[in-house]
Amino acid sequence: MKELLGGKGAGLAEMTNLKISVPPGFTISTEACVEYYRRGKTYPPGMWEQALLALKRVERSMGMRFGDPASPLLVSVRSGARASMPGMMDTVLNVGLNPRTVEGLAVKTRNERFAQDAYRRFIMMFGSVVMGVGRERFEEILKRKKAELRVLSDTDLDAKALRELVVRLKEAVRKETGQEFPDDPFEQLRMGINAVFSSWYGARAVTYRRLYNIPDSWGTAVNVVAMVFGNMGETSGTGVAFTRDPASGEATFFGECLLNAQGEDVVAGIRTPLPVTALAKTLPRAYKDLVSTYRTLERHYRDMLDLEFTIQEGKLYMLQTRVGKRTGIAAVRIAVDMVKEGVISKQEAVLRVGPEQLSQYLYPIFDAVEEGKRQPIGKGLAAGPGAAAGKIALTPERAVDMHARGARVILVRQETSPDDIHGMHAALGFLTARGGVTSHAAVVARQMGKVCVAGCEVVEVESSTTVRIGSHTFKEGDSLSINGFTGNVYEGEMPVVESEVIQVIQGKMEAKRSQKYRYFSTLLGWADEYRTLKVRANADIPEQAKVARGFGAEGIGLCRTEHMFFAEDRVPIMQRMILARTREDRERYLEQLLPLQKQDFIGLYREMKGFPVTIRLLDPPLHEFLPKREELMVEIARLELTGGEPAMIEEKRRLLLRVEELHEFNPMLGLRGCRLGITMPEITRMQTRAIIEAACEVAREGKQIVPEIMIPLVGMVSEMKAQKDLIREVAEETMRRKGSKLSYLVGTMIELPRAAVTARRIAEEAEFFSFGTNDLTQTTFGFSRDDAAKFVGFYMRRQDSCPQCLSPEVDWKEMICRSCGTVIASKPVNILDADPFEVLDREGVGALMRMAITEGRATRPDIKLGICGEHGGEPSSVEFCHQLGLDYVSCSPYRVPIARLAAAQAALTGAAVPESRGPAGRPNRSAKGRSRRSGSRAHRSRSSRTAR
Ligand code: ADP
Ligand code: MG
Ligand code: MG
Repeated sequence: MKELLGGKGAGLAEMTNLKISVPPGFTISTEACVEYYRRGKTYPPGMWEQALLALKRVERSMGMRFGDPASPLLVSVRSGARASMPGMMDTVLNVGLNPRTVEGLAVKTRNERFAQDAYRRFIMMFGSVVMGVGRERFEEILKRKKAELRVLSDTDLDAKALRELVVRLKEAVRKETGQEFPDDPFEQLRMGINAVFSSWYGARAVTYRRLYNIPDSWGTAVNVVAMVFGNMGETSGTGVAFTRDPASGEATFFGECLLNAQGEDVVAGIRTPLPVTALAKTLPRAYKDLVSTYRTLERHYRDMLDLEFTIQEGKLYMLQTRVGKRTGIAAVRIAVDMVKEGVISKQEAVLRVGPEQLSQYLYPIFDAVEEGKRQPIGKGLAAGPGAAAGKIALTPERAVDMHARGARVILVRQETSPDDIHGMHAALGFLTARGGVTSHAAVVARQMGKVCVAGCEVVEVESSTTVRIGSHTFKEGDSLSINGFTGNVYEGEMPVVESEVIQVIQGKMEAKRSQKYRYFSTLLGWADEYRTLKVRANADIPEQAKVARGFGAEGIGLCRTEHMFFAEDRVPIMQRMILARTREDRERYLEQLLPLQKQDFIGLYREMKGFPVTIRLLDPPLHEFLPKREELMVEIARLELTGGEPAMIEEKRRLLLRVEELHEFNPMLGLRGCRLGITMPEITRMQTRAIIEAACEVAREGKQIVPEIMIPLVGMVSEMKAQKDLIREVAEETMRRKGSKLSYLVGTMIELPRAAVTARRIAEEAEFFSFGTNDLTQTTFGFSRDDAAKFVGFYMRRQDSCPQCLSPEVDWKEMICRSCGTVIASKPVNILDADPFEVLDREGVGALMRMAITEGRATRPDIKLGICGEHGGEPSSVEFCHQLGLDYVSCSPYRVPIARLAAAQAALTGAAVPESRGPAGRPNRSAKGRSRRSGSRAHRSRSSRTAR
């Protein structure tokens, strides 16, 4: 239904079916919009006639007629796409007013002021949204009128003043557009519908779609709804509410309203509204209805909802409902609570949280001790959780600028609007002076996962470069801290500490003292019940292994041994080893490294308490351990000039010589990976000894250890065999010497196309495969990971929009953007949809993986399969790994929770196991309910990834 009617239309239809009080109306489908564009902006045949028929029905049920001065029906023309795009599309209220119907409305409502106010609002809205007159132009006229009459508030303007205002506003329309403001209600309706259709390709909507991967092809629906009025006096009002707190997830009814106002006023954050609960006192009947309505709706939708409503002279009307946007923290809490309330199943709870949303639990928070010492300089609404400290930007452009130069930015605005979206994207957090928890800033913060304090009344943005907060004046670039959990604002940059969840994992806080941790671990515990894919971590040192275990890692999928040699006390030994000319010399230094390396492994094994540990032999090109050539040359010159010790100079010279010898044109394809161990077998010997000795020693403590020794960058089975034979020999000898016996595996990374293609042969030697998808992506695409950023960004640009501001308003003849004025050098082409180093390329790299799996299993049906590239923690790649039937994914410790949830979702959405699963395969998982909501998923992962 949503596809056809858009979110808003579907919600209205659903509420009508539930017998909830909704003003009558009708919806023009998204298909009509798509058709409209296909036909070069003309209506599909019959659409207008059908709309008129539907309008007749609305007239009948309201007992009023559109354009009839005696009893005028007014309508709103509202946009509504499939996915909610807050504030991105335009809505026009009060359509149907003209000089005659406004008089009729005045008579009928016995409220001349109200009628004139509705009319002036209509002209302002229709004039700007539909006819393209700048909103400021109207605001100016309004301001001037108030000044003339010496009144402060809009509500102080009487009927006469408003009537004069109407004349001036219409005049402004004539001047600006050269067109009369239309008086014919049907003409107004037609123009309104066209404007909603057009807003689908408005710059704001387009930017939003690009940001959240919403396809252009969806189109928007148009909802035409009979007007009800929240601005008919003090028994009327309008509001926005959430059935639960969208920031924390707490199960309390939550929202805000304004009396004697029209909807826009709350949404736009123009006046700071009252909490919705205040209605209990002022309009108890309507409030009672509202509470029972929200309960009915929440029960029906079985999810947290956001609601828009209007009260006309004490009677409640619902104007919108949809599943509410929420922070990651709230998403988890709501899902868990709803299971406990018996509303949804555990499976549904697991499916409801976007894996990336979990990272909000890991964001730093302010140091409680430090925060306790400081006096807040302001307090607003806690609208987006987290702590943000950074430099003030007062315009979105400056925010983008400062962010580009590496600053952490806090965007401070009087209020934000959809035009600020680029600046909000660049900022860590937002602070606004006006607007409540449902204001634009708050909605966007929740969605993008940003920190937000909204409606902080002591904030006064004085100019585009200074802002006053209480008694303090700040300039752009000054430091500020905002706490999105409490709404507190502080001067300067406050130190941050680890989140509660991380503190619990590090043992600095008791689990039972952290409610957040409990929700987090409950949901992940459920995820574990459904996933079949194991999750390991990439960890090099015991400390990381400990964090990984805390996050639920079931082993180490990749220990990069080279990282251990970068330690300060080891690099010099490592360098001497590399410089050595003879094997004997090398062995001497390796002998010194051995006990250190062994200690590392002992630490890892102990932390992993019996879970598997995959250790990769030395992989990087050796020059990475040596100083840079240029630096050495400078140093030698300096020593010579200052009369340095000759022995020292001599040593540096030798170093330089060796550095020059080791220089490679293409080090990533040079002497590295297994090529090191083959040309310098003593390195492999030392590492194997360390691995096995450590295992023997820890085994004596009663822990069972099965080390998995992984050989990097194998392309040929002969390479694999050479290294494996050596490892076997050393391992056997070591065990004999130690007097113990333990099992261990020898396997390889699959990170070269040749390895994937010849996996059948390689599996003759390798006991496991671990897909090294970083290198495999590099070598499959022929993209250097370190240099790809230069063109991958360009490859991902959309074909139809300005590469600078993404607006589609580009003059392709003149090659200039009509929106931002950028001169475009060449037409952007959309070559890649996603960065393949971020999201696993299923088509190419994925095909090689699939082949390697099939071929590997042909030789060794029970071969153990995993992935240890960066992709192992990226939700869509995890899903693919599940589909391929891998045994585990391995990712950085902090992404382990994300991978656990993604793996559970992949299992629950029933991604079928492909045919490549050999005879040893598991039974096919049945395709369970819920198809993949790729749209919303891409959406979520994007939003939190870009957060920090
Ligand atoms: P958005 O997509 O930006 O939320 P809406 O179409 O929901 O836009 O319209 C914005 C506001 O206008 C709503 O919150 C509602 O209060 C008000 N509104 C829309 N239609 C009507 C109507 N028929 N009667 C009264 N108010 C309306
Ligand atoms: Mg709305
Ligand atoms: Mg590699």
